Amino acid sequence: MSAGSVLHGVDLDSAAVRLVAAILSRQALERCMSLILSWRSRGKATRWVSLPADEVGQVAALDTQAQHFKSQSDVCTFLARLSEYDSAVRMENLKPLGIYRLSSSTIDDILRKQGLGLNKSNRQSLHNRLMNARKWVTISFHFGSGLLVLIPLESKEPYQVSQRTCRRMDDAGLQRAHQLLLKNTNTMQSLCQIGSVTEQLFKDEIEVEFTFEEQLRNVSASQVANAVAHLSAEALIQFLRPVIYSWENLWNYGGPWPRPPDWEGEWPMDPTLAPGLPCDLCEATDPCLCLINCLPIDRYRIIETSRIGRGIIAHAQAPGEVAFRKNAIIGELTGELVPLDTYADGLVMNIHRPDVAGYPPICQLYCRNNSNWVRLVNHSCKPNAVFKSMVINGRVHMMLSALDHHILDGEEVTASYGTDYFSTGVCLCGHC
Ligand SMILES: [Zn+2]
Ligand SMILES: [Zn+2]
Repeated sequence: MSAGSVLHGVDLDSAAVRLVAAILSRQALERCMSLILSWRSRGKATRWVSLPADEVGQVAALDTQAQHFKSQSDVCTFLARLSEYDSAVRMENLKPLGIYRLSSSTIDDILRKQGLGLNKSNRQSLHNRLMNARKWVTISFHFGSGLLVLIPLESKEPYQVSQRTCRRMDDAGLQRAHQLLLKNTNTMQSLCQIGSVTEQLFKDEIEVEFTFEEQLRNVSASQVANAVAHLSAEALIQFLRPVIYSWENLWNYGGPWPRPPDWEGEWPMDPTLAPGLPCDLCEATDPCLCLINCLPIDRYRIIETSRIGRGIIAHAQAPGEVAFRKNAIIGELTGELVPLDTYADGLVMNIHRPDVAGYPPICQLYCRNNSNWVRLVNHSCKPNAVFKSMVINGRVHMMLSALDHHILDGEEVTASYGTDYFSTGVCLCGHC
């Protein structure tokens, strides 16, 4: 992918061509990464509005949010753009098909919801804002809202496309831009896929970890372009794909695996298999659905702080609400099952078995490659959660559960990884 091949022989004077070049540029992918990194370290106040049920209320809330976020930072500018797009989409449902303007009574309804006076100037500014918002829908036509993150947030060399440039483009210009973009269907498809996952992330609809985040762990949002300068555009696209999590432990260790002490019965075998052992959650010895039923859905978010790096915070529907009840399961840590003492790099935990005499460690769970979000939970000397080996549905699992307090929305989830966890001997937990 390169703008050069798409735009060979066309002139960069035209806003349409510059917009297309900007969308297909490395800058677009770098911006996406840098926005995601900034998003991780956002403050609690930067949060997508929860929308009321009625459409007038939704347009009112999104328009208010768009104004609130305007130009405080790149993250806010992008959130404002997403808010404008969504307000315009909902606005379409508030008027008869093919009619350009909202009726004056609908405009007044929106202003009332916003607590604004019903006067000429407020009506006119709301109308102007909604018309500006509508431009994002027109620009994204064919491609969907996934296109929005690819459009520059501010004018930069060499494309010099600003939000204002987009707003000023006429129908002929937009048509030209669409024609050029449609010549690159495959590229546009993968770019817009990345765009819509990013959009869902910012609208707090899903949590997702991107491939590049592990590689760029010590890179700040403003250093992204330098850090990835050696990579091809294709590699950047791969970098922006979501990490695929493993939801089951892998048992495919290639090397020799000595029989663990006190292990009775067949060997070698998957050391976590425990058919016939009662489930720690329902006490049944027959197959049960506890593992599926005990795992909470959408209750965590990934954050980044300068003190601890990446970590996990609890996520509830609204601020102040309980995300995890005391003693409740938070998640399962997955990884590769390997013999004891295989790894010692801090990404490993011992799994114990309750049916083997003395509850000894039976194997390691190695979490570098085939793991899930639970591996991002940080150590603390005053943790609010604990890892424990549990038998669930005939197998030993490494579960993370809350200690004896509820964990509230926004609270960091932490567990104790023991005293020998830090090679430097320095604990960053904030309690030491
Ligand atoms: Zn069960
Ligand atoms: Zn500590």
